[in-house]
Amino acid sequence: MAPVHVLVFPWPLQGHINSMLHFAAGLLGAGLHVSFVHTEHNLRRVDLVKAAASPRLRLMSLPDGLPDDHPRSVDDLKDLAKSLITTGTVPYRALLASVLAADTADAGFPPVSCVVADGLLPFAIDIAEELGVPALAFRTASACSVLAYLSVPKLMEVGEVPIPVGADLDELVRGVPGMEDFLRRRDLPGTCRLRAETNDVDPLLHILVNYSVHSSKARALIFNTTVSLEGSALAHIAPRMRDVFAIGPLHAISAAPALPTSLWREDDGCMAWLDGHIDRSVVYVSLGSLAVISLEQFTEFLSGLVGAGYAFLWVLRPDMVGESQRGVLQDAIDAAGNDKMRVVDWAPQRDVLRHRAVGCFLTHAGWNSTLEGVVEGVPLVCWPFFADQQINSRFVGAVWGNGLDMKDVCKRAVVEAMVREAMESGELRMSAQTLAQQVRRDIADGGSSTTEFERLLCFIKELTAKGAVPRRP
Ligand code: UDP
Repeated sequence: MAPVHVLVFPWPLQGHINSMLHFAAGLLGAGLHVSFVHTEHNLRRVDLVKAAASPRLRLMSLPDGLPDDHPRSVDDLKDLAKSLITTGTVPYRALLASVLAADTADAGFPPVSCVVADGLLPFAIDIAEELGVPALAFRTASACSVLAYLSVPKLMEVGEVPIPVGADLDELVRGVPGMEDFLRRRDLPGTCRLRAETNDVDPLLHILVNYSVHSSKARALIFNTTVSLEGSALAHIAPRMRDVFAIGPLHAISAAPALPTSLWREDDGCMAWLDGHIDRSVVYVSLGSLAVISLEQFTEFLSGLVGAGYAFLWVLRPDMVGESQRGVLQDAIDAAGNDKMRVVDWAPQRDVLRHRAVGCFLTHAGWNSTLEGVVEGVPLVCWPFFADQQINSRFVGAVWGNGLDMKDVCKRAVVEAMVREAMESGELRMSAQTLAQQVRRDIADGGSSTTEFERLLCFIKELTAKGAVPRRP
């Protein structure tokens, strides 16, 4: 069998990089070669380069087209998307041509067999196929959110979307298959709501719907999920795609080599701090890599956490709050004592969630964070911001039962009550642990995700055996 070489290209954001690096690790664990494409900007950031330690992994990079000092924050994601699409295609085509011909500087890498591109990079799929390289799409979001996007044209037809400004967000939505009994308007991606300032449809909605539909052009669609979590959504998506693979949660696949994934430097000191606490006595708070909170939200949050009375470890990225908020927090820490509160810029989250001292996880319900909490059996309190977070949060609260859905309103009394419940409810803990066991079975030998991963490897090897027909640009 000829050696197999897969080029993996994520959207250049932390949540996408993480799951696609875990996927790359799975491919390496199975003996494949992987070229992993970052943006030049990200590759200059800490830690990622350590991943190059594996001899069958090659990190490559492309310019993202933005100036070095551009913040690339959540408010500027449209800039990044636009820039990647307008300026990224030429270097991507050139990079692909070079790996196709195996004429890059690294010896020992066979020509590329297929591309696995982020589903939010449709150009990466189209260009690969144009050059004769089979392309698969990878979605780093939950399958339920992708199904919601795929359902938007129908929801528009029946008048459910766009959701008018001021509408009752707790009303159920008819038209997303399998979710009619529990999906509320507030659980749909925020782009389904008319924009309050202008009372018009967010153009991003059409873009995201088109991206989801575009995945049907790829040879297959890969999800970082499992049938025990999202079997129904996957079953509704599958007929619309050429093939679908549910192979997650990828971060927990034990046979894969661990690759560093963080774009920020991890503060390992918080692990020693956790060591100093008794079992299940600490609340871990992290809102992911993009969310930014206002002073008002910060104050409600802090008061709620302090009011709940448990020690907490809070990740506050430097770009997440202003200096004044940090000052307020420092005052609160000084008043409460250092063993009660610990604030870090960035934590080794998967290790934190695995730590015996962590009793619950207050999360924004990003898909990676949700999966990480699920696998460790830690009860979640979800405060969703955008993208798939609202629907993930609803699934946690209403379908999986491993946590509480705080909706998107943050009030100190709610934070306090939910944190207490998540820390103290034996029933919630039991459901979180039962779910964890189920999901762990999926990724064990013979489990659904493991079997699907093996089927995916065969699928990729078959593509390789048929041989890509490179067309030089
Ligand atoms: N993460 C981390 N340390 C932190 C906060 C987050 O390593 O202090 C990781 C987390 O484990 C997850 C990723 O960053 O894998 C965030 O992805 P997610 O999909 O949860 O949210 P996003 O950042 O895309 O909003």
